Amino acid sequence: NKQVLFRDYVTGFPSESDLPITSTTVSLKIPAGSTTVLVKNLYLSCDPYMRNRMRKPDPLIPATAQSFIPGKPISGFGVSKVMDSGHQDYKEGDLIWGAVGWEEYSVITPIPNLHFKIHHKDFPLSYYTGLLGMPGMTAYAGFYEICSPKKGETVFVSAASGAVGQLVGQFAKMMGCFVVGSAGTKDKVDLLKNKFGFDDAFNYKQEKDLNAALKRCFPEGIDIYFDNVGGKMVDAVILNMRPHGRIAACGMISQYNLQIPEGVYGLSLITYKRIRIQGFNAIDYFHKYSEFAEFVVPYIRQGKITYVEDVADGLETAPSALVGLFHGKNVGKQLVVVSRD
Ligand code: NDP
Repeated sequence: NKQVLFRDYVTGFPSESDLPITSTTVSLKIPAGSTTVLVKNLYLSCDPYMRNRMRKPDPLIPATAQSFIPGKPISGFGVSKVMDSGHQDYKEGDLIWGAVGWEEYSVITPIPNLHFKIHHKDFPLSYYTGLLGMPGMTAYAGFYEICSPKKGETVFVSAASGAVGQLVGQFAKMMGCFVVGSAGTKDKVDLLKNKFGFDDAFNYKQEKDLNAALKRCFPEGIDIYFDNVGGKMVDAVILNMRPHGRIAACGMISQYNLQIPEGVYGLSLITYKRIRIQGFNAIDYFHKYSEFAEFVVPYIRQGKITYVEDVADGLETAPSALVGLFHGKNVGKQLVVVSRD
């Protein structure tokens, strides 16, 4: 059973050497009387929050997911096939998505709202790491619940071509909003404009002045900011927010590898402009997963929602795929194929 191990707590940017590959044995049978489930992992999801799990536990930072344990395999979201089961609700051959180890086979204890059976099998199974999985749920809850969008509003999305951002942009367009995204390469900017239907997009790495870039794109200001990056971008956005604007603080990837956070969040402007900033965690909304699936599945079938994935092949490629997120190497949702069946 090949596994991705966690060497030790990380400071600064993680590297592949923090995540060595090892091998161990696993019994392919669940012992009699156990209610656990043996799964074969097919796809693993590379997610930025996993960097936060590489930190030493800190009592001041509430953990939505616990720190990885040095010397043990890391874990995350994945798509898996049940091989053997002592659990009454799961049987051999079932397909599921949810929390698993980064390894070929995992023994799991199914948890409601953390492990889901896959019912729609006419989509690529890999979609359950992205569009139909945790990032999809994040985009759905973050945009519709946290941003309270209205038709005609102006929406800005950062890391807009990624797993979450590409969906937020498409949801916002479906709602009749004016939508602009930022991303870190020309190819990603082209995707935003030509594939995902954003009204405009810019490469934040090429802009000398983020405030000026936002003024150019939003002469009348921003109603909604879906923040995936944090840092200096938030400061520039607040200067350009309209009164009563909303900011969904989804993630702040620009800060995850820094010792001292950048940016100061124009705090007085938040007051004057009555801006609402709200953090959220997708996991708080997982009980609404079936509502989300009912909402999004028809749009996928009708071709109204599209999704771009970046697929790494083989468990051995998982460490570099995960580390690549923090250098913007992924184009679209980064995932790893462990096995295709
Ligand atoms: P992405 O697919 O967008 O991948 C990460 C991208 O972030 C990279 O491709 C890169 O794109 C961008 N990036 C990396 N470093 C920086 C930096 N220093 N400054 C600006 N951009 C950077 O990831 P996800 O869509 O999965 O996640 C997006 C955000 O949402 C993350 O902050 C993540 O933590 C958060 N999140 C929050 C959840 C929640 O429950 N609140 C759940 C899921 C995700 P580029 O080339 O454009 O720079």
